[in-house]
This record gives sequence, C-alpha cells and structure tokens, in this order.
Amino acid sequence: MTTRRELEHCRAELTALPSGWDSWEALMRLAMEEAAKAEELGEVPVGAVLVTPDGEILARGHNRTITDNDPTAHAEILALRDAAATVRNYRVENAVLVVTLEPCMMCTGAMVHARVRGIVYGTTDPKTGVLASQMEALELPFQNHAIWHMGGVLAQECAAQLSAFFRKRREEHKLRKSDTAPC
Ligand SMILES: [Zn+2]
Repeated sequence: MTTRRELEHCRAELTALPSGWDSWEALMRLAMEEAAKAEELGEVPVGAVLVTPDGEILARGHNRTITDNDPTAHAEILALRDAAATVRNYRVENAVLVVTLEPCMMCTGAMVHARVRGIVYGTTDPKTGVLASQMEALELPFQNHAIWHMGGVLAQECAAQLSAFFRKRREEHKLRKSDTAPC
C-alpha cells in the first residue's frame, strides 16, 4: 500500500517508464489496438493494458459489456481480472494500467482495490471520467492507497478512435431509420 506522503516522496520512481519502453505513447498504442478489438465487436472502443515495472505486459483488455451482457466488463476490469489470475493474487501492486479513456468510478475503485501503482490514460471522458473530469476520485481524503496518474497520452488519437465509432454508429442509425421510413 502506498500512502499519499510516500507517493510524493518517491514520485520519480513511481512514475518511471517500465523497462524496455521508451515512451508511454508506445504502450498507449497497444491499448488502442485493444480498443480496436472492442470496435470490431460493435462495442465502444476502449482498450487497456497492464504493464509491470519490468516492462512485461501482464494483461490486456477491451470493452465487452454488450458481448458479455456484463455491465462490469470494462477494459480496465477485464485487464485487472486477467492479471490477478495470472499472478494468483487479487493485488497487482506495482503494475501501471494504460487505458485509452479516462476511467469511470467503477474502474477507478477496482484499481484502488488492486493497488495498482499508476494509471495512464489517453483522452478525458467529460461524462463519466473521475480522475479529472467529473471529480478527482484519487485525491479523496479517505483513499488509503495513493495512485499516480497522468492523462493526455495520445489524447487526440484516442479521442478520434472514439468519435469515429460514434459517428459511424449515428450514420448506421440514420440509414436504418430511412430504410424503415414510410414512402
Ligand atoms: Zn470503467
């Protein structure tokens, strides 16, 4: 467990790039590949990877809520579940979660429970993001595990991936409507 005071104290160590990676952008590209898999399923394209300080990709996840009929099947949760099963521990301490979209309340809570070291995200989510947009959930005083976090990594590309998906979906809706419109 990392207290807030410790987080400040050893920030440089906590925020260090995992070994063998020369940028967070490179890791974000992997998360974007995961997001593309969600899109292929007709899901909102959000993807995540969990990386250890040694640079190992512990787990990957992409949004599967519709496919799995599971409201908790967000990319982050699936990556955490997979990682926890791999390390045979519900805590994945020291891992950093890299995700294309600012996490929601559920995922942020799960990451606190999992004791991840850090969260790196792409674009902000003004509707349900809780690291910066709707609130600063990791700064709440009762949180007993401090997590380093950073947003804005490949933000434009992650946002473009999402907006392209929603644009396409709107067009498909329109087409379907015009198909069924009475002549
Ligand atoms: Zn979520």
